[in-house]
Amino acid sequence: MSKKTTTLTEELYEYLLAHSLREHPVLRELREATAGIPHAVMQIAPEQGQFMALLVRLLGARRTIEVGVFTGYSSLAVALALPPEGKIVACDVSAEWTAMAREFWIKAGVASKIDLRLAPALETLDSLLASQGENRYDFAFIDADKGNYLAYYERCMRLVRPGGLIAVDNTLWSGYVAEPSRQDEDTRAIRAFNDQLHGDRRIELSMLPIADGLTLALKK
Ligand code: CA
Repeated sequence: MSKKTTTLTEELYEYLLAHSLREHPVLRELREATAGIPHAVMQIAPEQGQFMALLVRLLGARRTIEVGVFTGYSSLAVALALPPEGKIVACDVSAEWTAMAREFWIKAGVASKIDLRLAPALETLDSLLASQGENRYDFAFIDADKGNYLAYYERCMRLVRPGGLIAVDNTLWSGYVAEPSRQDEDTRAIRAFNDQLHGDRRIELSMLPIADGLTLALKK
């Protein structure tokens, strides 16, 4: 046994799912429906959705933000974990993908918890800051265009209350962050983002090797 995170072979990953996943039937249906469309890899892993739902419950979150909806798996997982009065402000620019998301939010009976904003997320976050002020949210999940990660994060740092949590997806980026020969724009953006958070004393930090890497930033 080593101190390093155990490598997940296919068999071990199947075991992990078989012994921990408690996927809501509509989440499962959405996952299966999304697997058939282009960009399906953008959907978060089911165990990650379950982990985020646990975080939302742990925080006692009521007001949350999602930057990057895609077909709505993570927002559905979070919405199911929120109390009846809980809300998600969900930001995306794709009418097509979010139409699919909405179909499943309705099916699961949580559509009323989700306030979908079809606009560039920076505009939506700025309008939330202007209309509601700072420290009003308990949880934010960032999973959108990587070049804007730092800009999304800085807005969310203002919107989330002290003791609130910002979760950021894809921070290990298929391992490319640690491959110096990878110099494409997205990889460089994620490296810059990871460097910035490592030095950010406003947060408690944890980078988890779950799925494609999930960074947790707890606002002090
Ligand atoms: Ca992602």
